[in-house]
Amino acid sequence: MVRFHLPPLFDDSLKNIEEALRKGETCGDGDFTAKCEEWIQDNLGVYEAHLTTSGTDALELAAMLTVEPGDEVIVPSFTFVTTASSYVRQGAKAVFVDVRPDTMNIDENLIEDAITEKTKVICPVHYAGVGAEMDKIMEIAKKHNLIVVEDAAQAVYSQYKGKSLGSIGDIGCLSFHETKNYSMGEGGATLIRDDKELADEAERRRESGTNRRRYIRGELDKYTWEFLGSSFLPSELNAALLLPQLERAEQINVDRNHSWNLYVEMLADLDKQGIIELPKLPESCTRFNAHMFYYKMKDIDERTAFIDYMMNKKKIKVMSHYIPLHDTNGGHKYARFHGEDKWTTKESERLVRMPLYYNMGDDTVEMIVEAIKDFYK
Ligand SMILES: *Cc1c(COP(=O)(O)O)cnc(C)c1O
Repeated sequence: MVRFHLPPLFDDSLKNIEEALRKGETCGDGDFTAKCEEWIQDNLGVYEAHLTTSGTDALELAAMLTVEPGDEVIVPSFTFVTTASSYVRQGAKAVFVDVRPDTMNIDENLIEDAITEKTKVICPVHYAGVGAEMDKIMEIAKKHNLIVVEDAAQAVYSQYKGKSLGSIGDIGCLSFHETKNYSMGEGGATLIRDDKELADEAERRRESGTNRRRYIRGELDKYTWEFLGSSFLPSELNAALLLPQLERAEQINVDRNHSWNLYVEMLADLDKQGIIELPKLPESCTRFNAHMFYYKMKDIDERTAFIDYMMNKKKIKVMSHYIPLHDTNGGHKYARFHGEDKWTTKESERLVRMPLYYNMGDDTVEMIVEAIKDFYK
């Protein structure tokens, strides 16, 4: 079976992990965690980055910082469960609006109509590493005094008009899950763009709601419980695995883009004939992280047949993606869809994802494309 993803692995990661183990420093907030956070701050351009135990925890920390029971958060329905559930756990309601068919990102022109006096946060998702229309979203947030939390789980190292995704909204959430471009197994980060008070609160909520970090820095002689938080610190072992990948971010990014472009080139004729619909990068995407390669098929029946063909006849793992959240038990219970579902369901049913990972090699891409073409013969 041709695998769907494979996280990068460098010998430096193994050395780092051994070093952490031999030093007996495996709990959170050691040197490797600090170095990962510094890399993120310097390279993505944010005031403060906090590594977390997952992308989900990065979102849950963001939710703790932004919403209270009864608040509303505007999110797309075409996303991972925890984009919405993080806020719901804090007692807020998720309000879904439709996506744009071209990027599968939240339609920025539908956001304003969904705003009520309860709305607190707009949480765009940068699907497949392509930025949502952040200029418009930031303008709406400013006008209505709302907070913007970017779910940049898939968009690490991508840019929107020259700015790193995750650094544009008030808060950004990254994922370093094994399936993402840079992996620490399970992990993520919450980024604070520039608000020092918010950064200070994030630091304490992440340390179980205590001022322990200030105590460790020698600013206090004991630490105490201040408000509600949780333990969001990943182990040093995970940070030790991640750091060498971050240091090679450009190399990983170039390679992923190469494979993504090869798919596009080799499938261009199917796109021209109207058999499939290839994704197009908007001009605003000034740096692309090639997080995933997907295209759209005719309809869900063709997709079901295609996935079966690829998996069983060709032994190549291909996948559909999110079931829109509003159409689930959880969605009915904790959320509502505002406006018309013109594209979310329809387009999600046509979308199919191909294997894409660091160092997969041209021959693997070529073999997959041949298999795709065989399906249509
Ligand atoms: C992966 C992902 C998450 C969750 O990240 P985890 O690290 O798996 O918890 C959240 N939102 C989106 C859009 C994602 O792709």
